[in-house]
Amino acid sequence: MIYFDNSATTFPSEGVRSIVREYLEDEVSGNPGSLHTLGVKADKLYRECQTNIARLLGADADEIIFTSCATESANTAIRGYVSRNKRSGNKIISTRTEHKATLECLALLEKQGFEVIYLPVDKAGKPNLGLLEEELSKGGVALLCFTLVNNETGSVLPIEEIVDLRNKISRQTAIYLDAVQALGKMKIDLHGLGVDMCSFSGHKIHSVKGTGILYLKSSVKIDPLIYGGGQQKNMRSGTQSLMLAKAFEKALSEAAASMDDSHSDIAKINAYLRSELVKRDAVILSPDDAVPYVLNVSFSGFESETMLHCLEIYKIYVSTVSACSSKAKKVSYVLLESGVDRKIAANAVRLSFSRYNTMDEAKEFIKTIDEIYDTFLVKH
Ligand code: PLP
Repeated sequence: MIYFDNSATTFPSEGVRSIVREYLEDEVSGNPGSLHTLGVKADKLYRECQTNIARLLGADADEIIFTSCATESANTAIRGYVSRNKRSGNKIISTRTEHKATLECLALLEKQGFEVIYLPVDKAGKPNLGLLEEELSKGGVALLCFTLVNNETGSVLPIEEIVDLRNKISRQTAIYLDAVQALGKMKIDLHGLGVDMCSFSGHKIHSVKGTGILYLKSSVKIDPLIYGGGQQKNMRSGTQSLMLAKAFEKALSEAAASMDDSHSDIAKINAYLRSELVKRDAVILSPDDAVPYVLNVSFSGFESETMLHCLEIYKIYVSTVSACSSKAKKVSYVLLESGVDRKIAANAVRLSFSRYNTMDEAKEFIKTIDEIYDTFLVKH
């Protein structure tokens, strides 16, 4: 099997599996909220986990909130911020190339009376910063919502410039950043970046599903999404899972330790695939400066879904549009918004890599593409 669909989800690493096994087999793992020794022990381990994760992300331990997934983190951040900070303005600025986790929150807020300004993006997926500057200068902007690495194209957001503009023009505007596809692929220093809220997902970095993080800067106040027993400083009620927190911590520390080597290996794989695919008349849709972990490519003569299923015959797994909406058989809205011609976008396939992929797999992929063209392409 060749698994090139790591932006959809990843397999738990061996290290993560063994942590999960260890906690499942622990018969009396306490509730971190309990006052007896088991609870105190669980709470201590939980806090250690928070501290380690915070250190790896350049944040403070009490700024790390454990959630079930990045979608929950996005909902908590976006909806919780505007609910709590009503006086900071009625406008939100974003783009139409965000993940649905953000777009659907924004659609809900529009129904509630917020004005959402969607900045156009260029062919490389970058939002128009001139327009951002103009809109910030008009005032009344509560929140900016952007994605650090686009899940379909790997396009990287110029976040430093965006933070600078916010700091220069509109300090009361908060920034929410979706860093789901950046985690493990680039160094993240949250305090250095200067964003206010940031979401992460464990299952994209070889943790298990059910593990998410919300970074909430200590000076930023939001309303919680989930009410109950007041766990996690009232920001996310519900008994904490030490096992899931540990799984995230393990996945993140493994990703951090292997990041430099993995980046250069994946960059070589990406460069090889790009050069071989263009020889076969494929159109590369990921920008040149995208993260190497994502390669969006349009194959002539095959619609996205047809190519996906042809590859599946050879046990090669890729995506069409992002996984959560791919069953809807639509052309990627991210590509269309980035100005890609509809016919080219209709044939787009996303290859996405992790540190476990190899050059041999990339060579096998190219061989398979040749075989698919020889076997399945209807010649006129
Ligand atoms: N944001 C981006 C950029 C993603 O790629 C995804 C998952 O595909 C999400 C958010 C949602 O993550 P989760 O599956 O953890 O809710």
